[in-house]
Amino acid sequence: MSGSVERFDAVVVGGGAVGAATALGLARAGHRVLLLDRRPKPVFSEEAPVTRVATLNAASMQLLTDLGVADRVLARCGYPFHRMEVWDANSSAELHFDADDLGLAALGWTVEHLALEASLWEELEAAGGAVLPETGWRALDWWPDRIDLHLEGGRVLGARLLIAADGAESALRARAGIAVRRNPYHMTGVVTTVATRFPHQDTAWQRFNGEEILAFLPLADGRCSIVWSLAEFEAERVLSLDDAAFAESLRDAFGGRLGDILTVSPRADWPLVGRQARDYFSGRLALVGDAAHTIHPLAGQGLNLGLADVRALLDAVPSGTGADPADATALRAYTRSRRLDNELMLRSMEGLRWLFGSSQPPVAWARGFGVGQVDRHRALKRFFALRAMGGSPAPVG
Ligand SMILES: Cc1cc2nc3c(=O)[nH]c(=O)nc-3n(C[C@H](O)[C@H](O)[C@H](O)COP(=O)(O)OP(=O)(O)OC[C@H]3O[C@@H](n4cnc5c(N)ncnc54)[C@H](O)[C@@H]3O)c2cc1C
Repeated sequence: MSGSVERFDAVVVGGGAVGAATALGLARAGHRVLLLDRRPKPVFSEEAPVTRVATLNAASMQLLTDLGVADRVLARCGYPFHRMEVWDANSSAELHFDADDLGLAALGWTVEHLALEASLWEELEAAGGAVLPETGWRALDWWPDRIDLHLEGGRVLGARLLIAADGAESALRARAGIAVRRNPYHMTGVVTTVATRFPHQDTAWQRFNGEEILAFLPLADGRCSIVWSLAEFEAERVLSLDDAAFAESLRDAFGGRLGDILTVSPRADWPLVGRQARDYFSGRLALVGDAAHTIHPLAGQGLNLGLADVRALLDAVPSGTGADPADATALRAYTRSRRLDNELMLRSMEGLRWLFGSSQPPVAWARGFGVGQVDRHRALKRFFALRAMGGSPAPVG
């Protein structure tokens, strides 16, 4: 039986941005790596419509630079933005961030998911990593020195380290018996790309209106990617509108800051759920990205936290001949370094939702006053901006 097992130092299940970055990092460190995903191989084309966009912080860009893919990702419709406007529809609270004032190269970068995933897959193959698109697994066998992954179609892969990067509903996490805490927000994230009457002004915009949060993220082609977090019933309503009526609702929800909405791409939607796995590893299996945690998209941090997991895992996993990539001390160190950080971010997002979501007069007053204080103090603003950038102000790009 074991003669038919193809052996790898690491097998990564899930070729989203987090899994592909993990596989590339491990391959660069000299490990024999295989990446598999049930989806087809990601292929980037400038002609394809923009669907999913993420805002990356400086720490994530630094990781992409270290992995040798940052230039390719940025050349594929990536966009560095330098200003951010955040305001509250129900108080005087407003925050303005400017990269020049804060001494930063950029406040963030908008990148297309497909560009990111395709660049990582291409670079992984160039680095000698194996890839298996359109492939799922059906069973696992746990051995002291490896985990065997039985694939649909009969192949068996033996992994000294098995990485679960298979997203929020991770089947590997469930199979390993790792419990997960769920906090459904009863909100839906509606995502689309729009052209607006007035230019985006190199600015990421975010408007809070109670529980409803609307972000316009600037793209290289002058359009904006929007993320609109709405109560479930309200999301159902706006998703059922035709494009013209949707554009009108969106303009009103945004307070008309960029004028009329001229075009709307096909819309997508996600249920918003906060999740935190009780542990980030079990034996030879480790969780990364959405398989380990998910948060509300209000600060655009989900992928950034996933890429921070990748950095921590790559730092922890031993490399070199004879080293065991699933060394328990290393995986414990990885869990320790990431779980608390992710928990703090989850709790901060819940605090922000409460602060901006409450219409009680004392909270609304405190919101206007407190946010005004932050906006007037350069050092405080720099502190918050650096925190959102993953603690790394490194000038990139
Ligand atoms: C509305 C919305 C907006 C967001 N905006 C931002 C933002 O601006 N900035 C940001 O940082 N984050 C943002 N996020 C979060 C971000 O998109 C995710 O955190 C990130 O994409 C997670 O990446 P991942 O690689 O861990 O998971 P995924 O991207 O979900 O990848 C999982 C992969 O695993 C594969 N897979 C699953 N099961 C199997 C299986 N059994 N076998 C084989 N393959 C499998 C899937 O096909 C998929 O390719 C947003 C999220 C939402 C919902």
